[in-house]
Amino acid sequence: MGPILASIARATGSGVSNGSASPPPPPPQHTQGATNGCLLPAAMSSPRRPGSQPSRGGRTPWSPCGERGRLPPVNRCVGMVMWGQQPSPEAPGLEDSLCAIAVVGRSCALYPRLPARDGGGTLPSHDAAQASAPCGRDAEGRALGSFQLGHQDNIPSCTPVQRALMSLTPSLEKLQVVKCRMLEAMDKGLSQETHAQAAVRMLPTFICSTPDGTEKGDLMVVELCQSHVRTLFVTLLGDGNQSPQLTYKIFEMPADMLQGTGEALFDFIAQCVHKFLEEIGTPQHRLPLGFVFPFSCRQTGLGKAELISWSKGFQCSDVEGKDVVQLLQAAINKLELYHVQVIALLNDTVGTMMASSWGGKPCEIALVMGTGTNSCFMAEAELVEVVEESNGRMCVNSEWGCFGDDGALSDVLTPYDHRVDQESSNPGERRFEKMVGGLYLGEIVRHAMLMLAAEQALFIGASTSVLGNKDAFKTQQVLEIMEFGEILQSVAGLLAPECTATLVPSADTNGRGVAMVTAVAQRLLTQRHEVEQLLAPLRLSRVDLERVQALMRQEMERGLGRDSNVDASVRMLPTYVCNTPDGTERGDFLALDLGGTNFRVLVVRVMQEGIHMASEIYIVPTSVMQGTGEALFDHIIECIMDFQTKQNLMEQVLPLGFTFSFPCQQLGLDKAVLLTWTKGFSASGCVGQDVVQLLRDAAQRKQHVALKVVAVVNDTVGTMMACGYDDPKCEIGLIVGTGTNACYMEERKNVGTVEGDEGRMCINMEWGAFGDNGCLDDIFTTFDRMVDEKTINAGKQRFEKLISGMYLGEIVRHILLAMVDKQLLFRGKPSLKLQTRDIFQTKFLSTIETDGLALQQVQGILRDLELDASFEDSMLVREVCQTVSLRAAQLCAAGLAAVVEKMRENRGLAQLAITVGVDGTLYKMHPHFSQNLQQMLRDLAPNCAVTFLQSEDGSGKGAALVAAVACRETSP
Ligand code: ADP
Ligand code: MG
Repeated sequence: MGPILASIARATGSGVSNGSASPPPPPPQHTQGATNGCLLPAAMSSPRRPGSQPSRGGRTPWSPCGERGRLPPVNRCVGMVMWGQQPSPEAPGLEDSLCAIAVVGRSCALYPRLPARDGGGTLPSHDAAQASAPCGRDAEGRALGSFQLGHQDNIPSCTPVQRALMSLTPSLEKLQVVKCRMLEAMDKGLSQETHAQAAVRMLPTFICSTPDGTEKGDLMVVELCQSHVRTLFVTLLGDGNQSPQLTYKIFEMPADMLQGTGEALFDFIAQCVHKFLEEIGTPQHRLPLGFVFPFSCRQTGLGKAELISWSKGFQCSDVEGKDVVQLLQAAINKLELYHVQVIALLNDTVGTMMASSWGGKPCEIALVMGTGTNSCFMAEAELVEVVEESNGRMCVNSEWGCFGDDGALSDVLTPYDHRVDQESSNPGERRFEKMVGGLYLGEIVRHAMLMLAAEQALFIGASTSVLGNKDAFKTQQVLEIMEFGEILQSVAGLLAPECTATLVPSADTNGRGVAMVTAVAQRLLTQRHEVEQLLAPLRLSRVDLERVQALMRQEMERGLGRDSNVDASVRMLPTYVCNTPDGTERGDFLALDLGGTNFRVLVVRVMQEGIHMASEIYIVPTSVMQGTGEALFDHIIECIMDFQTKQNLMEQVLPLGFTFSFPCQQLGLDKAVLLTWTKGFSASGCVGQDVVQLLRDAAQRKQHVALKVVAVVNDTVGTMMACGYDDPKCEIGLIVGTGTNACYMEERKNVGTVEGDEGRMCINMEWGAFGDNGCLDDIFTTFDRMVDEKTINAGKQRFEKLISGMYLGEIVRHILLAMVDKQLLFRGKPSLKLQTRDIFQTKFLSTIETDGLALQQVQGILRDLELDASFEDSMLVREVCQTVSLRAAQLCAAGLAAVVEKMRENRGLAQLAITVGVDGTLYKMHPHFSQNLQQMLRDLAPNCAVTFLQSEDGSGKGAALVAAVACRETSP
């Protein structure tokens, strides 16, 4: 008989215990009152406020707390239950944190019950009068001796018994101090720099979600315990999962296995899995397995964990420093159980938390009060600095039993604690656990009695020899004397008044908790896989972007070529702007800006000291935009005359620069033939006409003879010129607003469409149309096609539709709809609003992607779209926004890389230093667009040092500067 069969024969209970566990009862109605226990740190659960935003390396320190008062002493752990609770005077109106704590006592009933409270849930109040009468009685005549003793350690009138009790009874103030130290210790464990030395380790578990009831399918758990291996098989129906079907079996482990080889241990575990599956006869489909391995591990992913060191009597060779998930998988594969896939390493504390989440009510803290003590809770991922991920939440296993091992509890420890510690197998270690855990409470009482007996304060004349025996007192006996749960809750409430917690006793004897953790891990993995699949086409590789860059370069060459120009998708229009400002420009100019968000008239004074401007915004009524060309240009002249009158400029003849942001074939600096209207304009009789002439004709009609139009430019050129006035290196203009476009200074000899070889000319690329000839087709996703199909210019401006403000929100909306369809978002329920075109604005991307923005604010935006977003939904929406805006910035970088590399080659330089003048709300307002653009550009064009200069009022100032440069050139 092999070891495995032997252990099955020796399995507990009836030899082989196959039990279908019944569902645990729903948690009791929780007692909620003024003094309910604490919960999630306010700092971790409430929206971060601008200005007080904790960030990596600069987190808000946990603030000390100023609570005064007294409390029932019973057990000193009580006050420390609450961590992270921060008084929030700066955030009035924030809702109290509300959350459930799962509480479990394992090997002894340290947390026996939650006593039902009377309606109000009130506790004995401890006012000052009672406090100063330590030996008095309370209102019900109950002796207060053990309830009211406090911090006055040296009251001369106290008896030795009272003094002993007092030393075991820290005041509320003291507990506040301990609480603050616990917060500091936790902070230390979370921080990147101090994590390694921290007493409270705060180990990341990579569990980023609590059960939501949609978990579905078969799964397995294998649990390595002290003397046995437990295997579990669970079937979840996705129906809320309150009654999962669960089968388990226990395999006893040969005692010598603990010190044998690692290989033998993992082979044994794999054999248990094999045997178990054989007996229950499961199907051969893929079976995810969660591995409960209760040793200290360096976990770097759900299914990736290196054993740091063995403990609890285990010392198997060749395991420390290795990935135990891999070791188990390898052992399972040896048995050819290829369908069993180890997906996650689990911690039993997390299991306790998960077991108590039910019916859509997440439990986000677990408190283990058993032989030892531990806790875990859902923390904001950005606080867990040892993990890269900074979005969402992650369950952190505090390992708080070691709190105090660095001396943090030295002034709370009593002589009895020191004796207990010294008699333990690990003196100096796990000091907090030794004040709290069931293994030690009886011992503390025994030592207190021993010392009192020695002082002749107790058991006078009686034999106390029995007290000399270790473990003479059982924790159970201690607990029978007090109401542990009520005290835990009430003191927690006093120490964290801003938090409201529900204590849910967890009776997880059948492994439902770890099964739920495995189910959540499996759900997360499946969802992640589907999300990745959906977003993959939007994530461009370095190779993709290099190809876009090369294609842009190719289209640029074609656009510049005299013969190839006609069918190039990038038009490369000459602008007849041949110089950028040199700073010597002077004078007063008029400027017009038509084609941006507003129509404006400006007067620009260019002086030695700088540029001064005055401007006026005029409305162009839709009827005029879409009426006759004559009416439109008459309206423009009327606005100019009105402006000149107001500015007292009627008597002067000022040179005028005209920013006309529509695609034009330019034939001279002051001659531009309109190719097509865009942006809602459709005035008749204009396309194919020189717009400067149309303006002059209108001036004639209005008898406004003193109008001298010297230049017509597009907004891209205006932006370059405006920035060029401040930085002579600025020879590129870029717009990323409603649309996108770029211009740059090209060698005139390369411009095949214009005569002349000397010097340079600014080329208006009209790059928004890049790809209209199909060259980008394999980059477009189904989402891009859906967006394009619904535009008024389907098939046109394809590059622009991947990048600019008019489209990004719409792309996001289509992705969200697809995710809803695949049940990945909003529990599969779309809203009518989300099906409305353009409802998801590009400015939402800017808000949603803002660093440190509380997810509540994302939820707010989504609520306006009638979407009820969970925490995970909000995270996913944020990821979609990030993916879409990142792609836009990277494509823009690929385009720019083609431009700067061409300029560098044109000039025969090894290195080019150049400045790009930029305008457009998307570029300026999006929190990451510019950074992503610049980073990708550095990558794609490493030999160009590119500076970005944001233009202020590029179109107005720029038009005037084009006029000024033109005047500079023509003046003697
Ligand atoms: P235009 O390009 O018409 O001259 P803008 O440069 O102001 O105008 O760009 C307007 C576009 O910017 C809008 O169409 C909108 O999509 C986008 N936008 C507006 N606000 C934001 C914002 N906060 N973040 C990102 N994009 C925005
Ligand atoms: Mg603009």
